[in-house]
Amino acid sequence: MTTDADVIIAGAGPAGSLAAFELARQGVSVLILEKSMFPRYKVCGAGLTYKILREIPFDVSPVLETRIHSIIFSSGFREGFTRTSDEPMLFCSNRDVFDDFLLKKALEAGARVIHGKKVMGVSQGNEFVTAVTRSGTYRSKLLIGADGASSAVARSAGLHDHILPGLAWEAEIKVDPEVVKAFSQTVFLDWGSFPGGYGWVFPKGDHFSIGVGGPSNLSKWMMPYYKKLLEYLETGFGIKVLETISLKSWPIPVRVKRSLFHNGRILVAGDAAGLADPLTGEGIYYAVRSGILAARSCHAYLQNEFSSLEPYTKAVNDELMCELLEANRIKYLFNAVPMKIHKFVRDNDRAWRAFVRILRGERWYEDVPAGFGRWKVLWGAACYFSEWISDIKERRFLRKGFNKI
Ligand SMILES: Cc1cc2nc3c(=O)[nH]c(=O)nc-3n(C[C@H](O)[C@H](O)[C@H](O)COP(=O)(O)OP(=O)(O)OC[C@H]3O[C@@H](n4cnc5c(N)ncnc54)[C@H](O)[C@@H]3O)c2cc1C
Repeated sequence: MTTDADVIIAGAGPAGSLAAFELARQGVSVLILEKSMFPRYKVCGAGLTYKILREIPFDVSPVLETRIHSIIFSSGFREGFTRTSDEPMLFCSNRDVFDDFLLKKALEAGARVIHGKKVMGVSQGNEFVTAVTRSGTYRSKLLIGADGASSAVARSAGLHDHILPGLAWEAEIKVDPEVVKAFSQTVFLDWGSFPGGYGWVFPKGDHFSIGVGGPSNLSKWMMPYYKKLLEYLETGFGIKVLETISLKSWPIPVRVKRSLFHNGRILVAGDAAGLADPLTGEGIYYAVRSGILAARSCHAYLQNEFSSLEPYTKAVNDELMCELLEANRIKYLFNAVPMKIHKFVRDNDRAWRAFVRILRGERWYEDVPAGFGRWKVLWGAACYFSEWISDIKERRFLRKGFNKI
């Protein structure tokens, strides 16, 4: 049976390119089918938490624009404070440049790509998988769906369950260059304004990325909130918009249960698998990590070390879903008592250090309950009640909208 490659990957975002890089460098033949022409814009803040750098097996410093040492926090644009870390917490990039860089690394390692090929669906037999595009079909032994939030692969392989839709709006805005320079190491974060949502400002080399996001059922509140964020930046910090380069919304898929991440010869990774952090919306780390895990499982399967792709599902559930489920619990706690947590981060150095260490990948959400010491036993109960309170607050918010800002 002839195939076009051992592994076909749908999508050349961080999940697809990292999977392709890992496979190609181990001598596996890889073909990426990507619907866009690269470099392409992707709606994204492109804030890269420090932990991503440890995960990517090559140097990405040429495409990092800024390194972030400070966060200006506010809650409903009030009670503002600045927290600083000597060590960088995150880096900001531009997704067109960043994704193009990752793809080039995969191609240098030996992967092939066809641009302008949208995968419409997949089917599988005993020996191979077929990816269907408008202009033909492609066959491989295995297929990784890394085709993002609206994944055609996940849907056609029946791997799209337990995903809650999040939504975010994001714009690239031009401001006075001196102002960008003044805030080049600082991120703005407004949280607690509406349940499960927040607003952010990330400095890029010559502009800011500004965005707001949260559960998609609150989408009608996002634009008013975005406008408030702009007002706050202008009156509070002199950040005046000179030009809005783009303002677009995009889904953030959040998986809320341990699930299957493979079906026969098909795997899903990154946004296609719903692997975004429900608390922060961070998805690039989970895309990179799941792409690498997918590649390792495919390689082991092709080497006859695995008899199925089940170890991939197990690895994603054990490593990534455990973390994301804990993030979901923390999100409920935050939604229940946002101002208390806001002030806790302001007043408590340990809480701030824990926050920084999580961003840097030195601690994980799963470590948070242990950090409460003898109060740890109350953690489960607090999370349980928080989910309940958070639900009530969300329903009240849906009826009444903002009352703080
Ligand atoms: C407004 C907003 C802000 C965000 N900010 C951040 C942030 O600051 N930090 C962070 O870590 N995460 C952020 N995220 C999340 C992050 O953008 C995603 O989690 C991340 O891009 C997922 O990577 P991926 O490779 O899985 O998918 P994607 O990056 O979406 O890549 C998928 C690729 O597949 C291609 N494709 C799509 N459909 C098909 C198809 N049918 N056939 C072939 N190719 C296809 C696309 O063109 C794309 O190139 C944000 C998301 C949003 C919406």
